[in-house]
Amino acid sequence: MAISRRRFLQSGALAAAGVALSGKQGEASVDAPEMRTKGLKSSTTICPFCAVGCGLVVHTKNGKVVNIEGDPQHPINEGSLCPKGGALFQIANNERRLQKVMYRAPGSDRWEEKSWDWALDRIAARMKETRDRTFKTKEIDKKDNKEYMVNRVEGMTFLGGAGLDNEECYLWSKFARAMGVVNLEHQARL
Ligand code: SF4
Repeated sequence: MAISRRRFLQSGALAAAGVALSGKQGEASVDAPEMRTKGLKSSTTICPFCAVGCGLVVHTKNGKVVNIEGDPQHPINEGSLCPKGGALFQIANNERRLQKVMYRAPGSDRWEEKSWDWALDRIAARMKETRDRTFKTKEIDKKDNKEYMVNRVEGMTFLGGAGLDNEECYLWSKFARAMGVVNLEHQARL
């Protein structure tokens, strides 16, 4: 059925008047479900996985993470997350997640539980041993066949990651240089 311009405008005006009288425009439907995050504490943070640095909203209840989603107000991702970031909840709540130091000695077929103090002391001792063993003071340059002072560690690499912020990156690279380490890499380039 063809509708004239006048009739179309009349219909629109009647519909608008109906909405104004009923007062329903903009009201939430009585059938709308309650938000699943209602009453939870929310905090913002950054995804630890890659250098994109997407923003997250983490919801907690009694100190336990119960929901993680993209932060719609974050300028990088505006609420979206890749599948890895979208599965972060499963990292926070996972019975298979290791929460203690587990050590397997060279040649052993079993894992032993160790303390953090034991692990940190052992890492420090191994780093010191590697540094002393592989520290090079001089090297002959193939171009001119002359010997130059180099003072560098060749048996160690420092690997950083996207989870580090500016200040952590600064300290991390300072520490590497102080050790004499010249091989510095970033997880996202591997
Ligand atoms: S959500 Fe995905 S793209 Fe964003 S920072 Fe995490 S891993 Fe990178």
